[in-house]
Amino acid sequence: MQPVFRFAPSPNGELHLGHARSALLNHSLARAMNGRFLLRFEDIDTERCRREYEASIVDDLRFLGIDWDEEPRRQSEHFADYRAALDALAGEGLVYPAFMTRGEVKAFAARFEETEGRPWPRDPDGAPLYPGLDRSLSEDEREARIATGEPFAWRLDMRRALDRLGLLTFQEAGLSPDDEGVEVEAEPALWGDVVLARKDVPTSYHLSVVVDDALQGVTEVVRGRDLLPSTSVHRVLQALLGLPAPRWRHHDLVLGNDGRKLSKSHGDTALRTYREAGLQPHDIARMVGL
Ligand code: GLU
Repeated sequence: MQPVFRFAPSPNGELHLGHARSALLNHSLARAMNGRFLLRFEDIDTERCRREYEASIVDDLRFLGIDWDEEPRRQSEHFADYRAALDALAGEGLVYPAFMTRGEVKAFAARFEETEGRPWPRDPDGAPLYPGLDRSLSEDEREARIATGEPFAWRLDMRRALDRLGLLTFQEAGLSPDDEGVEVEAEPALWGDVVLARKDVPTSYHLSVVVDDALQGVTEVVRGRDLLPSTSVHRVLQALLGLPAPRWRHHDLVLGNDGRKLSKSHGDTALRTYREAGLQPHDIARMVGL
């Protein structure tokens, strides 16, 4: 079977050196394995994502010598696919409308820590776990609150999901084409009841990435190590939705001079700036350790 790879940036800013590293690793592995290479724009956040960033990403990738084998998929054009997946989970009672805002969850965690004198659990990104107080609301109560226009998010009932699925594992491999990988135990409980959709954005990163990887026949996911913990959530969703699991290859990140990971929001130097300053693709490759 021909392997299928994808590079899946969010067009909410310029690409930086970390993206260059990920794209180059993805593309060279795809070519070395005689695979297909796809480009996907993860633009579900329609407020922050812009077409001009897409154009800039295309220019950056072409500059790096990266080509792709079909028209890029744009997630904002496929909300119906993610909706169908959410509906399937809802039909099995695996999601619930969650009414607590992020601020309320933080306040809840702080109150707990103050009165109990021990920490409230946090997810791998450091956010307090959702307390799930509204997991057990009756259908009537849910409908009444939704009818008042109260904002809510659809959250996965993780406990119920894990009761159904039991132990989950995934294949994690290195960056050499012949590495089959090793089986790693997934730890989805660390995330608690993750958000699968919001009122304003009818899906989430976790849900759409899993649906798209399956719809596009992706077999190899090459991405930064910062997303390794999310893989556990992705395994849960794949198992619940009956979708095939790809193999993952999480690579080291490019760190800034201060040791933290690069980010668009910190204004780390855009690839475009280097490109326009006359640096060549081999300079970029060297800068990202390739
Ligand atoms: N869209 C994600 C990002 O830009 C990458 C998602 C993935 O590779 O699974 O960080």
